[in-house]
Amino acid sequence: MRVAFESVWYPDYEERALKRGTFYIDGGAIKFTCDGPFDLVFRDTLVTPGFFNSHSHIAMTLFRGIGDDVVLEEWLQEHIWPLESRLDEEYVYWSSLLGSAEMLLSGTTSFVDMYFWEKATLEATQKTGIRPIFTPGIIERPGWESVLDRIEHLMGEGALVGIGPHALYTVSLKIMPEIVAYARDKNLFIHMHLMETEAERAFIHNNLGVDYLKKLDDIGFFEQPVILAHGVHLSDSDMAFLGSKNSVVAHCPQSNLKLSSGFFRWGDAKAHGLSVGIGTDGAASNNNLNFLEELRTAVLLARGISQKPDVISPLEALESATAVPARILGLPLGEIKENYWADLIVWNTTDISMVPYDEPVNLLSHVIYSAGTEAISDVFVEGRWVVHKGQVVGINRVEVVERVNELRRKIRKGD
Ligand SMILES: [Zn+2]
Repeated sequence: MRVAFESVWYPDYEERALKRGTFYIDGGAIKFTCDGPFDLVFRDTLVTPGFFNSHSHIAMTLFRGIGDDVVLEEWLQEHIWPLESRLDEEYVYWSSLLGSAEMLLSGTTSFVDMYFWEKATLEATQKTGIRPIFTPGIIERPGWESVLDRIEHLMGEGALVGIGPHALYTVSLKIMPEIVAYARDKNLFIHMHLMETEAERAFIHNNLGVDYLKKLDDIGFFEQPVILAHGVHLSDSDMAFLGSKNSVVAHCPQSNLKLSSGFFRWGDAKAHGLSVGIGTDGAASNNNLNFLEELRTAVLLARGISQKPDVISPLEALESATAVPARILGLPLGEIKENYWADLIVWNTTDISMVPYDEPVNLLSHVIYSAGTEAISDVFVEGRWVVHKGQVVGINRVEVVERVNELRRKIRKGD
């Protein structure tokens, strides 16, 4: 599919500016020169890179609204883990369809997921067109090595894959060296929850000491790119240490706030040179996968905590939501640059939430502080037209809603 974006506004992260210009989609990639004819032409609107959801559990849409009013430990042990033990491919397939529709409608084009039954999620995402990046989760128990077979299967399917030691309270340093060696051998990035709650901080400090990051470094943990989810209870010295490594924190503010875990200090992370991406976490703790809402919460929280209105600019926020995690993983996406994968959001600048704007054009401010998902008109993933006029192209929405409701009743009954 060939698409022209004529005289549109788009962010240029190198020039640190919203530019006006013309570019194209050709063969799934972004090009700045291209001969017609074109299948589609967009003019005089705002186009941004698609959002990169740095931390999710997509199929947890099935558990939306369960165990709303308890802390993380009780929520996992009493509510979520018992239900997850009943999951199978069918549950995960339909919940992944629901989750990918929800992500796409808020402009998400890639997501880094840690869950189970990845084959079913892969099948669902092939229907909707969103790009999954799988990191099958490892919890230390007999037979954990079977996760490595799932990783190899996904690699064989051509999917993007990393490895997901779940957290330092579920994976000890007994098996971590083996996981790290495997990651190095297969050239996989590492995705792990870290410092999500105060209880986790106490556990890590009691068991591994305050220099736990140095211990991870000693076994080669940071030789591969690393995504660390949450980082709520990182100390300043932890941030400085991580800032010197090829790592990024997946900041999931709504999940942290809802689970009453605390909040990640984005402004301090920036001061320490630590890269930050944005994640929704799962819909069971968030309780939605609306990326735009997540991004706005993250920026407002950073302003409130730091008491500095300029702590994160709209361009910096957008860069964290798109390019920053992709750069850490070495993927050519998240920026409007020659030959980058054409993951793009076309915004409706006449939507009420985007109006008015004038010179100088402040549309990035509207994206960060004002826009609703109804301002997202069209979405492309690697040149595939996946959202068209606010509708997900690849699914029958009514069927997905009915099936997920049925499956929710079934898993609760324990059949
Ligand atoms: Zn998580």
